[in-house]
Amino acid sequence: MASTDERDEDVIVIGGGLGGLSAAIRMQAAGYPVTLLEKRDQLGGRASVFTKKGYTFDTGPTIITPPFLIDDLFQAAGRETSDYVDLMRVDPKYRLYFSDGTQMDYSGYEDNIEQVEEFNPRDVEGYRKFLEKVKPIYELGFEKFGSMAFDSLFAMAKVAPAGIRHKAYKSVYGFVASHVKDPRLRMALSFNPLFIGGDPFEATAIYTLITYIEEKHGVWWVRGGTHKLVEAMQALFEELGGLVKLNSEVQSIDVSDDKRVRGVATASGDYYGADVVISNADVVHTYMDLIERKYRKKNSDKRYEKAKYSMSLFMLYFGVKKQYPDMTHHSIVFGPRYKALIKDIFKHHVIPDDFSTYLHIPTRTDSELAPPGCEAMYACTPVTNLDSDTDWDDKKEGFKDHILETLDERVLPGLLDNLDVVSIFTPQDYKTEFNAHKGTGFSLRPILLQSGWFRPHNRSRDVKGLYLVGAGTHPGAGVPSVIMSADITTDLIREDLEGE
Ligand SMILES: Cc1cc2nc3c(=O)[nH]c(=O)nc-3n(C[C@H](O)[C@H](O)[C@H](O)COP(=O)(O)OP(=O)(O)OC[C@H]3O[C@@H](n4cnc5c(N)ncnc54)[C@H](O)[C@@H]3O)c2cc1C
Repeated sequence: MASTDERDEDVIVIGGGLGGLSAAIRMQAAGYPVTLLEKRDQLGGRASVFTKKGYTFDTGPTIITPPFLIDDLFQAAGRETSDYVDLMRVDPKYRLYFSDGTQMDYSGYEDNIEQVEEFNPRDVEGYRKFLEKVKPIYELGFEKFGSMAFDSLFAMAKVAPAGIRHKAYKSVYGFVASHVKDPRLRMALSFNPLFIGGDPFEATAIYTLITYIEEKHGVWWVRGGTHKLVEAMQALFEELGGLVKLNSEVQSIDVSDDKRVRGVATASGDYYGADVVISNADVVHTYMDLIERKYRKKNSDKRYEKAKYSMSLFMLYFGVKKQYPDMTHHSIVFGPRYKALIKDIFKHHVIPDDFSTYLHIPTRTDSELAPPGCEAMYACTPVTNLDSDTDWDDKKEGFKDHILETLDERVLPGLLDNLDVVSIFTPQDYKTEFNAHKGTGFSLRPILLQSGWFRPHNRSRDVKGLYLVGAGTHPGAGVPSVIMSADITTDLIREDLEGE
């Protein structure tokens, strides 16, 4: 079928999140002409950016690790990351504020020992044992599982014994709690699955590897903001000859009767013929909204109706006419409840009065992001997804005030008096802006039965020529995972096209 564009596209990428951009770069670098179609007016997806009154706000990911994945991507295109972006190490990695008024600077495994001793001297031994066990979990879960395609049940069966040996059947919290007793340490060592949309009381203990990634590779910040990485990736893709079309929402994926992809049609009426379509759009949106039911047996509506989803986020982006030199770049402000709050978010689907929030103050590292003497910040508060019947239009102003008042009281004195600008982004906005099913922040929830072979496959099992990248496919959500998904997926595509 003819394309409305003068180029004869071989590969179409739907969606320009970090996963889509990574896949586009890899395919273009391998010599396949790629056109990337993005719904919005900028690339980056969750990692987008906006400015307001001289403040620059990155909307999503801020903790960048491990840098070697970015280097691998640029090197696949014959380039060096350092020619495009400058990565800065952030230390301490986080500061944790507990509701009893105590706090902890989470710097590194050994550096934390003193703090562990202060909280509970009897936990030092358990903490050391925990550290010893997390290293092999990282080697298995990240270095081995993370780069495998899991395109056969056999592949999953082969790794199962190792998973059992590393207690994959335990939850992250259960694993941590079997090593340390202090409730604050249990929180400090178990909250990380929330960064990828997981419930710490349910996510498999394999996800303790997140703490080890940060330990081994550090926590990094892209000078100027995460959007500078997105801009660099776009520049690289275009230098290689790739074509980006913004404001181009794909409305359907055209499939032939023998279940082969033929192309895509956009909402504005354009048609792009393609042999290969890589979708970086939300996986449920990709299957349920873009592909007719009759073509998808494995990815049926029923499958996605039964699936478990990650939580959403209530985002507040705000600028303050005051500086907080004692604050760190990344902080977690824990509320009074931990397990009960998590259950409210993931199970009861309600918005309670208490909350925990991740406070991001990039101007602590990078002063250019706000006018002189000011700070740019965001508060990222995990909330239930659209499975709740919350009317966010009704709820958002009150919830915003509650969060800002609490921050003013607990960690940012004078915030309310110096507030300059505020923008709100709700779960409903995740749905409207990103086509995110149930308005989630991170797509399918990372649980054992939705990981590896059990996650929607990188190579579609329903439609030939259709592939997935991004948070909803293997290995999952988070910047490292979506970049790795692009590596896995493009290897599969090349194997299919080149018979390698
Ligand atoms: C607030 C927040 C903070 C986070 N912080 C971190 C962090 O610090 N570190 C970390 O590692 N991870 C973090 N994450 C997770 C990480 O950002 C995401 O998992 C990752 O960026 C998702 O990338 P993706 O490739 O799945 O694409 P997405 O970012 O989901 O992008 C998908 C793109 O597809 C487009 N699209 C959708 N439908 C269509 C269509 N029909 N046609 C065309 N285009 C379409 C969307 O507009 C979007 O641009 C954070 C996430 C959020 C929300």
